[in-house]
Amino acid sequence: MKKVVVIGAGIGGLTAGALLAKKGYDVTVYEQAMVPGGCASTFKRRGFTFDVGATQVAGLEEGGIHERIFRELDMELPPATTCDPACAVFLPEEKEPIMVWRNPEKWQEERNKQFPDSEKFWSLFKTLFDASWRFQGRDPVLPPRNSWDFLQLIKALRLDTFVTVPFTFMTVANALNLLGLKGDRRLKTFLDLQLKLYSQVDSEETALLYAATALSVSQEPQGLYHLEGSMQVLCDRLVEALKNHGGTLKLGHFVEKIHTENDQVKGVTIKHRKKGEIFTENAEHVIGNLTVNNLVKMTENLPKGYGKRVEKLEPSSGAFVVYLGVDESAIPENCPPHLQFLYDYDKEIGEINSLFVSVSKPNDGRAPQGKRTIVASSFTDTALWWNKKKADYDQLKQEYSQRAIARLGEYFHLTPETIIHQEIATPLTFAKYTAREKGIVGGVGQRISTFGPFGFAPRTPIKNLWLVGDSVHPGEGTAGVSYSALTIVRQINHDERSASFSIR
Ligand SMILES: Cc1cc2nc3c(=O)[nH]c(=O)nc-3n(C[C@H](O)[C@H](O)[C@H](O)COP(=O)(O)OP(=O)(O)OC[C@H]3O[C@@H](n4cnc5c(N)ncnc54)[C@H](O)[C@@H]3O)c2cc1C
Repeated sequence: MKKVVVIGAGIGGLTAGALLAKKGYDVTVYEQAMVPGGCASTFKRRGFTFDVGATQVAGLEEGGIHERIFRELDMELPPATTCDPACAVFLPEEKEPIMVWRNPEKWQEERNKQFPDSEKFWSLFKTLFDASWRFQGRDPVLPPRNSWDFLQLIKALRLDTFVTVPFTFMTVANALNLLGLKGDRRLKTFLDLQLKLYSQVDSEETALLYAATALSVSQEPQGLYHLEGSMQVLCDRLVEALKNHGGTLKLGHFVEKIHTENDQVKGVTIKHRKKGEIFTENAEHVIGNLTVNNLVKMTENLPKGYGKRVEKLEPSSGAFVVYLGVDESAIPENCPPHLQFLYDYDKEIGEINSLFVSVSKPNDGRAPQGKRTIVASSFTDTALWWNKKKADYDQLKQEYSQRAIARLGEYFHLTPETIIHQEIATPLTFAKYTAREKGIVGGVGQRISTFGPFGFAPRTPIKNLWLVGDSVHPGEGTAGVSYSALTIVRQINHDERSASFSIR
């Protein structure tokens, strides 16, 4: 049995580990935290269960990526409800939100009302989405790094894929320009806000092909889902599948180094966080469920060019998150499960000028009877939070919290009586609990130079060292990282089969 070490039990690492265990590999997943799940895990306080980062899930519908993977693992999908609307977006000083409905006709009606004359843009989006979605459904390997990868890419192409080709080098803003819509401030701002959630960057920079997919998955027959219980159920089931198939998960184990020899991976050095013991484990394959920035820091003898490429990346965002456990009376009637607010057109998206808010549903397992959770996040520049004196850090944290709660108070009924529990996460919190460098979240920005065919590959320049998660195609989100897991499992399986074939 070939030995596989997976570094990290995020959704990407667990999915890859469980699928490989099912295929008969000897898999050990080392996770530095005391709970698995990374950015899609939870924590409990005073009867509330808070989703740390991810709150909504794509890919649970039949044929969706999570559904396919659970089917492959012989596991039942965790129970979930659809989010409809997927999001209610409030632009500055507007009281009526833009409702992103799941039903395509209802969403079209809403768009016509909100952004008259923009239908040509949405129909371009639809054409690109349909072709891209069918292409992605045929499991291309992107970006290809050897002839087998390339063959998978070619096999996924069909005549209809070529409709996307002329748009490969366009951003969303280029398309708006082309269609005479760049002056539509509301439309552009709406797109900026939504795109930031999925691609890290706004319409000026997001690759059009990526955007068409990211912004269309919330409509039927796809959709966004809210898991019953909490986000933790997704990773708990993956852990169960890993163990059912003979794999092992070791919590509280920090992988310090990835060792290589002659451009091939050899193993890892691991530190037991509580006992302080350090040991080395050899493996035929090592899978890093890591940011590409962490991978470079941990790996011996990575080619210099790879490190330079990572160094040149635009800095990724961090997140400032407010977790509130509240009395039900804090929640307005008919409150949608996900809301997005922008407060000032002339300020950047992030730094509490925008908030993405998730509200638990009554009795969905996140809060006791009569109570609810509110999780509100804003993008933040990680540099603001690091290398500060403790007093300055505390002050910034307090300023941001007060501002966020005051802004949330414009929609929710927040008073000392309705707020039962309050907690904050900054990039330092994410760095501590997920070990992501500087607490960056969400992966590599989906700019033209770094999306799909031009992004980082799961196959690294070191043989048998693999990268899974939101730094590689198709990007962030639990669905995205699951695609990347599926890709490396296919790659490893193919490489191993052809190696044993050539020995014989
Ligand atoms: C505030 C916020 C909101 C979000 N909302 C959504 C959403 O609603 N829907 C959605 O789909 N996505 C959302 N995302 C994005 C999503 O959570 C992530 O893209 C996804 O969960 C990343 O999974 P991953 O497997 O790539 O990595 P991670 O979740 O980062 O997991 C990596 C794991 O590896 C461990 N690890 C790292 N280094 C080491 C080491 N050296 N040794 C041992 N273990 C190590 C970490 O502790 C972690 O558990 C959100 C993210 C944030 C931060």
